Amino acid sequence: MAAKRVLLKLSGESLSDGSSSISAASLSRTANEIKSAITRGKVQLAIVIGAGNIWRGACKFIERVTADKMGMLVTVMNSLALSDALATAGMKSNLFSANGVSGFAESFNREKVIRCIEQKNIVIFAGGTGNPFFTTDTTAALRAAEIKANMLLKATQVDGVYNADPKKNKDAVKFASLTFKEALDKHLKIMDSEAFSLCMQTNISITVFDFYKDGNLRKVLNGEKIGTIVEA
Ligand code: UDP
Repeated sequence: MAAKRVLLKLSGESLSDGSSSISAASLSRTANEIKSAITRGKVQLAIVIGAGNIWRGACKFIERVTADKMGMLVTVMNSLALSDALATAGMKSNLFSANGVSGFAESFNREKVIRCIEQKNIVIFAGGTGNPFFTTDTTAALRAAEIKANMLLKATQVDGVYNADPKKNKDAVKFASLTFKEALDKHLKIMDSEAFSLCMQTNISITVFDFYKDGNLRKVLNGEKIGTIVEA
């Protein structure tokens, strides 16, 4: 069986425990969830991590473009933290940044990234797309397309996509699977629209799952029906 090439999108919150933006316990849990998910399977893993634990581009006295640059820089910090946590858990990773942050991460180089991934090193993409007005969801879709990933896993705090907000509506029903067209027709928000559209165009499935339940990442990678899969 060919190795699965997977892009895991983590939100910045996956490193936080609520009181500190980057907590040792959350870092260690995230790294160990990744370790237990990839050690046995034939998985080539790339990761994009957000910045929402520290900064999400908006502030009255900071221009949007500057605020977005700050958000992208925070993804570099989060990626450095994740890379060290993975190393502590015994996993080697390579860190690439969209824009040059010499001394902190290598600049994105697609050929080099693919070589690292084929050697089964985890690749972490920092610095977002390198452009303001985008999100790390879009970064995840963009990098997934560039490395020809088979699937994008969106790690969230909910266990999938529902027909209504499950926090507000106790009768909300979860979808086990959807086509891209069904998701569009039903106006379901899977990822932001740029990310969704890129996955649809490049035929990369999106799995939305609850990352905060131990073992779920491993289950998704083992093909168990966890969360909601959106595909062609
Ligand atoms: N950002 C950006 N361009 C990108 C990716 C991210 O400007 O290509 C900025 C943007 O301000 C965003 C912030 O970085 O709000 C943090 O990313 P995101 O909100 O996606 O983080 P998450 O919610 O996943 O933690």
